[in-house]
Amino acid sequence: MKHCRVCGIPARVEGVELDEDGVCRACRRQLPHLPDPGELRERTIKELKSCDRVAVAASGGLDSLAALALAARHCREVVMLTVDTGTLHPEAWRRLHLARRRLDVEWRVVGDVDPFLRLFERRLPRAQSPCGPCSRMIERRCVRAARRLGVDALVTGHELPHGTDPVVPKDPPVIRAMCGWTERERWELVREELGMEPKKLAGYTSNCVVLPFALRRFHEEHGYSFEAPRLAAMVRLGYLGKREMWRRLEPPGEEELRGLLEECRGWIPRRLERVLRETLRSAGGPGSGG
Ligand SMILES: [Zn+2]
Repeated sequence: MKHCRVCGIPARVEGVELDEDGVCRACRRQLPHLPDPGELRERTIKELKSCDRVAVAASGGLDSLAALALAARHCREVVMLTVDTGTLHPEAWRRLHLARRRLDVEWRVVGDVDPFLRLFERRLPRAQSPCGPCSRMIERRCVRAARRLGVDALVTGHELPHGTDPVVPKDPPVIRAMCGWTERERWELVREELGMEPKKLAGYTSNCVVLPFALRRFHEEHGYSFEAPRLAAMVRLGYLGKREMWRRLEPPGEEELRGLLEECRGWIPRRLERVLRETLRSAGGPGSGG
């Protein structure tokens, strides 16, 4: 199978074209301008230190917990903000409770499940990724809540490839706190500041129950993972190893997904459970039963 020689993205992913040297277009375009991770980290820390009070968008996954850890280390006051999309695994809620207790900070949960459920009901049956619109909806709600709280900035667990600057000019400004931090360093931050190990759950998710189902359904239809461009960018930036990326590009197995549903019974809305069961049925192929 053919991959980009630099970032490892498989050539079968839609929009990927390898040149005669076996390098994809994104690598060819971005490699001459790749930011220095050390400088990015310093810039992010400087921004955090200049804030008195920040809100951190926290969903209980590795990235947002690492952002929370970093904010807690460098800002005087931190407020945790969680958007309840109905999709969080009980383990993610447990981590959020532990983090709140450990840091002794304020925690606000924004509950607005319906629009998210409608999004999943629309996109999953069509084998479309819900992730882009979902994360934009989450960010809008966080920015709104942060503005109401009157904080100096909203801190998120995003990193490049989402932009070239760790600070996004909004009201309040958004600090993408994971710019420059490798996955290993994120683990260390969470271990040191929060005393926990946010392990991957079934299907390589660390918090969202919908993602593995969407990945499997999409893979069934298109033969590749919609996460490929994002993960390849992580490799290009040096945040993630190629081998680990390839492992995550494999669709989760049916047994794993069944297990995941079992773990979340009672934690996720009934409507969502129904959509996920349907998705499993249509993605399972022959012999998936019913
Ligand atoms: Zn590439």
